[in-house]
Amino acid sequence: MLRIGFRKNGRIWRRSSFSWGLSNGLSSSSSASPPRKKLQGKVAVITGAASGIGRATAETFISHGARVVIADIRTRLGQETTRELGPDASFFACDVTRESDVSDAVDFAVSRHEKLDVMFNNAGIPCQSPLSIVDLDLALFDKVMNTNVRGVMAGIKHAARVMIPERSGTIICTGSVTGIVGGLSQHTYSVSKSAVIGVVRSTASELCKHGIRVNCVSPFAIATPFVMEEMRQIYPGLDDSELVRMVQGAGVLDGEICEPSDVANAALYLASDDSKYVNGHNLVVDGGLTAMRTLNFPAPQ
Ligand code: NAP
Repeated sequence: MLRIGFRKNGRIWRRSSFSWGLSNGLSSSSSASPPRKKLQGKVAVITGAASGIGRATAETFISHGARVVIADIRTRLGQETTRELGPDASFFACDVTRESDVSDAVDFAVSRHEKLDVMFNNAGIPCQSPLSIVDLDLALFDKVMNTNVRGVMAGIKHAARVMIPERSGTIICTGSVTGIVGGLSQHTYSVSKSAVIGVVRSTASELCKHGIRVNCVSPFAIATPFVMEEMRQIYPGLDDSELVRMVQGAGVLDGEICEPSDVANAALYLASDDSKYVNGHNLVVDGGLTAMRTLNFPAPQ
């Protein structure tokens, strides 16, 4: 192969013609290599992966060479999803509100694949509670916190248990734009997602000493079963296609809608070495919604 050398710091550095071409913005179809698999040989557990964002992430991780444990409370749907995703997916029945289930899911991944590289604490539930704080249903609050926050804590705890001795691993949790700014959802869900972002920052501060990164991905609204259930409660008279249109039209980025694959790609980045120095971060996937505020000028008189 043609090699081009150059001298730097007293050493002769050599580049193949291919890499030299790339560095100059050129490429040649004859020498192009297949797209790099970013999670080749990695093992991941994804909670809430039977459906929606978790499922899309499992698909993306597998396409990048990972083996994925689908850990979900929905046994039949989880098994169906696992079958559809192929031999690199396996199912483990797991209710994240039960610590022993989370612990067993992690142990299942390690016994089946001998390690755990990525833990994606994604399972969460919506909350149809009244909008006003004076009507807050504290029993419902406890239920949502139990899944959305305690379930995430359990996932980090048990992933850390097996990752610390290896001094490597990456943990991702699903937050939400509703955890960043108030008023996008009712209090209970919003508070639960703020807590997830806090949990990520707090645990990242300890686990960084063991070479483990903990990050968060915070999506905007996507018309998954989770959101559709909520929309049907709020707008009982409207049909699903109208509700989907409303969810998709609520964003700020013109011409684009937020899709599960957008969140999956963000999770892929956080799971892979592409983000090797990104830690304690909340990666928003919201088309810029939480970064801006539009001015509502009154009409001229
Ligand atoms: P989804 O399509 O409903 O998928 C969530 C999956 O998690 C479902 O299979 C669900 O089962 C399962 N699950 C619920 N409770 C569980 C538990 N205790 N243990 C294990 N699995 C459980 O929802 P999604 O939209 O992909 O939501 C995934 C995550 O994204 C959630 O944390 C959610 O808060 C977050 N999120 C979603 C949006 C959005 O707009 N979709 C936006 C921001 C953040 P069931 O169907 O039985 O509940």
